[in-house]
Amino acid sequence: MSFQLFGLPVSRGIAIGRAVLVASSRLDVAHYYVAAKDVETEIERLRSARDAVARELAAMQRDLPIEAPAELSALLDVHLMLLHDDTLTGATKHWIRERHYNAEWALSAQLEVLARQFDEMEDEYLRERKADLEQVVERLLGVLARGDDGASPLVSHVVTPEQSGEDPLVLVAGDISPADMLRFKGSVFLGFVTDVGGKTSHTAIVARSMDIPAVVGAREASRLIRQDDWVVIDGDAGVVIVDPSPAVIDEYRAVKRQRDLGRAGLARLRHLPAVTLDGQRVELLANIEQPGDAGAALAAGAAGIGLFRSEFLFMNRDGELPGEDEQFEAYRTAVEAMHGRPVTIRTVDIGADKALDRMSANELRHEHALNPALGLRAIRWSLSEPAMFRQQLRAILRAAAHGRVRILIPMVAHLSEVRHTIDALTRARQQLDDAGRAYGPVEVGAMVEVPAAALMLPAVLRYFDFVSIGTNDLIQYTLAIDRADEAVAHLYNAWHPAVLQLVAQTVACANRLHKDVSVCGEMAGDPAFTELLLGMGLRSFSMHPSQIVTIKERILATDASRWAAAIERVLGADDPEHECQAVAAECVARGDALVATASAV
Ligand code: PEP
Ligand code: MG
Repeated sequence: MSFQLFGLPVSRGIAIGRAVLVASSRLDVAHYYVAAKDVETEIERLRSARDAVARELAAMQRDLPIEAPAELSALLDVHLMLLHDDTLTGATKHWIRERHYNAEWALSAQLEVLARQFDEMEDEYLRERKADLEQVVERLLGVLARGDDGASPLVSHVVTPEQSGEDPLVLVAGDISPADMLRFKGSVFLGFVTDVGGKTSHTAIVARSMDIPAVVGAREASRLIRQDDWVVIDGDAGVVIVDPSPAVIDEYRAVKRQRDLGRAGLARLRHLPAVTLDGQRVELLANIEQPGDAGAALAAGAAGIGLFRSEFLFMNRDGELPGEDEQFEAYRTAVEAMHGRPVTIRTVDIGADKALDRMSANELRHEHALNPALGLRAIRWSLSEPAMFRQQLRAILRAAAHGRVRILIPMVAHLSEVRHTIDALTRARQQLDDAGRAYGPVEVGAMVEVPAAALMLPAVLRYFDFVSIGTNDLIQYTLAIDRADEAVAHLYNAWHPAVLQLVAQTVACANRLHKDVSVCGEMAGDPAFTELLLGMGLRSFSMHPSQIVTIKERILATDASRWAAAIERVLGADDPEHECQAVAAECVARGDALVATASAV
C-alpha cells in the first residue's frame, strides 16, 4: 500500500527507484554491479567466503579451551547453522544472479531482509538471534574484504548502472556519515533518504554537492520502507512516496522531465558574467570536498574555489591521516585544475558531525564530548595538534607555488587563536625555508561562523586579508540549534533577524575596511537570499557548482542598489522573509525581471 513520509528537502530533483536499505555499519561495503558473464564467478566468491568462514568457526570450536562454558560451543553451532541456512547464502545468491549485485552488496541486502524478519518475531530468544546473524555476515564481509581463499573482488568487471539494465536504485539508511556519503559519488544510487539529519548537516551538504535528490530527517524511513520497495524521492518538497501507483510514478516522471529541461536551459548562462541589472559585477565561486571536484567547478563557470573542505581528505582513513606530501598533491591537483583562478583551502574542520574514524586521545575526548559542536572542532582541534597543523600549512604553502592559493581558518572566535594560527604559519614557512622547499605567497582569511567573530570583526580583520561567512554554523551558534539534529530543525532558520543582522554587519564592516568578503555557507547557494545578500553589499558568493547558474540567473535579474535601499526595512522587520517577498514583488511590479530577461538573452 502506498504511503508518504515527510522529511527535510536537502538536495533538489526527483529520483524514482527501488529502495536499497543499508544499516549505517554496513554502508562501507562496496556497491557495484557485476557483468552478466561474471555472475557465476561472483557466486563462487561468495561460496569461497562461506567455506572460509565455516573453517574459521570449526577451528574456533575445536580450539575452545576445556574450561570454556558449553554455551560457547552451542553458539558457534548456531553460527555455523546460520551460515549454511538457505535463507542467508541461498537468498544472497538470488541478489547476485537476478540483480547482478556484487557479493558484499547482495549479502548486506539479504541481511536487511532477514533482520527485519527477526525484529518482528514474537519469541524473544529467536529475536535475539539477529545479533548472531549479523556477526556471521560481518565474518563473511571480512573474508570478502580481505580477499581470502579466492574471494577477492572482481572490480575490473564492474558495470555502470546504465549498462546493467537494472531498475534504478535509491539508498535508504538510518544515517549516513558525511565521509560515507562522499563514497557514493558516482555510485549506483540515484537518490538518498535518511531517518536523521538536518538541512545543513554535512551529510546533506555532500548530498547537495553530488547534485542528486535527497531527503533527510524522514524519521522512520528505514523502518517503514522495505528492501526493494519502489520509492519516489522529491528532493524539492522533502517528500518520499513509498510504493507509488503507476499513475503517481508517471506524474513524477513528467515533473522530472520538466525540471531537467529547465535546468538544461539554465546551463546556457554558464559562461555569462554575473552582473546585476545596475552593473555590479559579482564573483561566483565553488565549494568542493575533493580535488577532483575542481573539474565540476570549472564546468559550472566558477571564478575560483571559495571553499575547499580539506577535512574530507582526513576522514575514513582508519587513523592514517594524510601526510604532507599526500596533502600537497591533493591541493596542487585542485590548484592546477583551476588554471590560475584562486583556490581557497580551508584548514581541517574536523569535529561536530565530521568525525575522524580512529581516535587519538584528543579525538577521543572530542568523541565523548557532550556537545561536540561546541567542543574541540575546527581551528581548536588544529591548534591542539600543532605538528599536524603545521604539516597541513606546509602542504598548502607548497601548493601555492603552483597557482593562486588562499588559506581559510574555520571557526575563529578568539584573538589568541588568531595569533597562534599566524605563529603556526610563520613556523611552517620557516620549516620549508630550512628544508629548502619551494612555496608560494598566500592570502589568509577567517571564517565568520561564530557570533563572537562577527561582533569583533574589526579586531579580527587586523590579522586577515579576507573573511568568508559560514552561515551554516553562524545560524547554529547564533540560535543555539544543532544543525545536524532533525528534532530542532524547524528552529534552524536562516531568516532569523539576528542571523541576518550579523551577516549584514559582517559584509558592511569588511567592505568598509576594504577586505574581501564572501559567503560560503548554504545561504550563498539559496536563490531566496540572493537579492538580500546583494543588497547588503555582498559581491562574492561561494556554493556547490550545481547551484551557480541558478544564482547567476537571480543576479542577472536583480537591481542591487534597489535592494540596498530596502535593506534597513528588511533587517528591521519581525519577519524578514515576508518583507523580502514584498520588496521582490515591488521590483517585479517595476518590471526589473523583464529588463533582466531582455538583457540576458
Ligand atoms: C559554514 O559553516 O557555513 C561552512 C561553510 O562550513 P561547514 O558547512 O563546512 O561547517
Ligand atoms: Mg562551518
